[in-house]
Parts: sequence; C-alpha cells; structure tokens
Amino acid sequence: MDKKYEAWQNQLVKCIRCGTCRSVCPVFQAADNENTTARGKVRLLEAVSEGKLPLTPELQQRMGKCLLCKACVNGCPSGVKTDELFLSARKLLADQNGLPLAKKLAFTGLTYRKLFDLGLKMGAVFQGVVFKEAPKGRGKLARIPMPSAGLSQRRIIPPLASAPLRTRLPETNTVSSPKVRVAFYTGCMLNYIYPEAGEAIVKILKAHDAEVVIPAKQSCCGTPAFTSGDYQVGRYLAEENIKILADGDYDDIVTGCASCGAALKHEYGNIIEDPKVKQLWEKISKKVKDITEFIVEQGIKQELREVKAKITYHDPCHLVRGMGVSQQPRQLLQAIPGVEYAEMKDAAKCCGAGGTFSMAHYEISRTINDWKLDNAEKTGAAILATGCSACRMHITDGLGQRSSNMKVLHTAEIIAKAYGLN
Ligand code: SF4
Ligand code: SF4
Repeated sequence: MDKKYEAWQNQLVKCIRCGTCRSVCPVFQAADNENTTARGKVRLLEAVSEGKLPLTPELQQRMGKCLLCKACVNGCPSGVKTDELFLSARKLLADQNGLPLAKKLAFTGLTYRKLFDLGLKMGAVFQGVVFKEAPKGRGKLARIPMPSAGLSQRRIIPPLASAPLRTRLPETNTVSSPKVRVAFYTGCMLNYIYPEAGEAIVKILKAHDAEVVIPAKQSCCGTPAFTSGDYQVGRYLAEENIKILADGDYDDIVTGCASCGAALKHEYGNIIEDPKVKQLWEKISKKVKDITEFIVEQGIKQELREVKAKITYHDPCHLVRGMGVSQQPRQLLQAIPGVEYAEMKDAAKCCGAGGTFSMAHYEISRTINDWKLDNAEKTGAAILATGCSACRMHITDGLGQRSSNMKVLHTAEIIAKAYGLN
C-alpha cells in the first residue's frame, strides 16, 4: 500500500457498512446518492488505498459533496472518524489535482493579512458596483451571476460593514479592576460582516470584569482553506494565529464564531506541523471558549432585563459537534425574563451552509436550509439565535427568499440586550 494512505487504515477497517450514517446525512437526504454518504465515501477511499481508484478530479468532486457537519461521526456506532478521513482525502486530492484558480487565489490572499484587510475595506466602499440592494433591505444581490464566487442572482448576502470591528474598538479594552485577561479571536465574519455581534461580545466580556485584547495581527482561522484541501495556506494561518495568541498572557481565548472556535480548539491539532507551534497550540487550545461557555462558567453577572420575544435556537455544527457547546446558549436564553424559548425540531441538524459547500452546491444547500427554516418557522419564533456567522448568513438568505419576518441574531446580541448593554 502507498505510504500516504497508511494513516487511513485504522479508520477504514472500522467501517462495518451498517449505513447508520445514511440516516443522518443531510446531503444524502437532499441528493439521494450513496456516494454522498459517509459509507459511500469510505468505500471510495478504501478503493483508493488499495490502488483500485486513482485520485481523479471526479473523486475530488465527490469528496467535496460533504458539509463536514460531523453528523456521521456522532452517529457512527464503530467510531469512524469520517471527518478526519475526508479532510485528509481532500488534501491529497488538492495536492494531486489543484484547486479552481479563483479558490486558490482567494486562499493565497488570506496569507497577506494587510492586503486582505485593505481589499475588504475597499470592497465595502465599492460593493454597490457589483451588488444591488435586496428587497426590504434584507442584504445584497449580485447584479450578474458569479458562479466562480458561488453567487447566483437569487442568493442574498449580507453587506460588508463600512467599519470593521477591529477598527471600531481599540486593541486593548480595559476595565477598572480586571479579574481576567481575555483574547477575543474575532475571525473574519464578525470583523467584516457582523461587527455589531462582535461589539456585543466585547461589552459582555467587559461586564464580566475582563480586560479584552483583540489581537490586531490575528489572521483568518484558515477553515475555508484547509477544508478545501489547501493545507499549505491552512497550516500557515493556523501557525500564525497560534503564535499571536501565545504572545500574550491570556486566561481565556474567547470566540464568537463556531468555525473559528472549532478550528482553534481541535482542527489545528491535525494541521500544525512545526513541533514548537504544536506545543504552543496544546496550551492555547485548552483556553478556547465560545462566548456562551465563558458566560456560563463565570455565572450570569447581573440581574437580567426583560427582552420580550419568542426565540428559537439553531445549533451550528461546529459549536454543537465541533466544540461540544449546546446547553449553554439555551440556558442563557431561557434565563432572560420575557423570552419565550421555543425549541425547534432537529435544531442540531446542519443548516446547509457548510463553509464553501454552499458556494459549490448552492441548490443542495438551499434544500437542506429549507428544512431548517420549516422547523424554525413552525415554532412561531420571531428571532432565531445562533452562534456561527456562516449559519447566520445562510439562514438569513433563506428567510429573505421566502419573505419571512423572522430575524437572525447572534446569541450574544440578545444577552447583551438583557445585560442592558445595547
Ligand atoms: S455509520 Fe460508521 S460504520 Fe456504519 S456505514 Fe457509516 S461510517 Fe461505516
Ligand atoms: S459530514 Fe455531514 S454531510 Fe458529510 S457525509 Fe457526514 S453526515 Fe454527510
């Protein structure tokens, strides 16, 4: 057997072909094709490892038809780590066949932190040239279809913020008598698209007597790159972020985006190669917490104000299965006076975003998203709370397309309101 497939063996032999993963796979449920299930993909990788199937572009496409939602990992009775297998396969396939030019350029751009920042700031100024307003101010619509950027003309996307989070706040946000020193890893979407949610997180942290440092030199967490197989870029970004976060004496590292949090806490362990940085990561990863975890650990700080609203909650895959956070946001929302909490059916099922999945397979991701929205709307809630910016963007798109009045907010924005902070 080729040496590069040896690492797969432990996992491949565990698969007993039971098909349990079929019953939980959203992509299979939407596309009805055995090749999209974890079992189907495991069989394909087995054929690869036995030398019966080469690493072709067709195989790369099939391995890309996966949300990396981890539902199959959770449900597998044999404990097959399908997520790790699929990521490893995507890396080998990208090494062999490359990535589409637009993707490769976009990922490489992430490694030029200052240029990337400038590009998005310029994008915020000139976004009106390529995008027009969606009806009722729901976001933006592409003026012309841009398939290489995953933008159909019906897809509603949020605008880039005129002022990113990291320009709105100082790098160090002090309080009079700090009890903890916290690094806030904002990632890209809270910085460039949803800065109000990021501001809510900083206000909450300060209300908990935390000195909040928002490291100016942080880069993208690298999830879009390494989940597409670009480990060169993913590894560079992971190692840069860990070095930056290790360069400060932080008690906690707080995130407000599920994908960033799961990357910092777990995924980096399979990506970082430099032994010194790996050692740093081992320490850092133990300090990574979602904002709702942080609040619950510290205890609700003050008497909560009334927020009169019926609210439901969507579990982002990277929060519930990536970071093991599901009770904390519910506990906090239910503690707010005036909130009528309504649990939706299948709250922990993927919303269909799947990072770059929704760009490559928009129609499948919309079908999966519609199931989520049906369940959310059945609760009669006016607000859907969540803790992942990618989920927020995809769900907001779906709600806009069905002209729903339901609003999507970050859980922290609702908590900040109950704290009297916005
Ligand atoms: S649930 Fe696990 S053991 Fe069963 S077919 Fe899927 S991957 Fe194989
Ligand atoms: S990670 Fe999700 S989408 Fe991918 S095979 Fe598993 S259940 Fe299906």
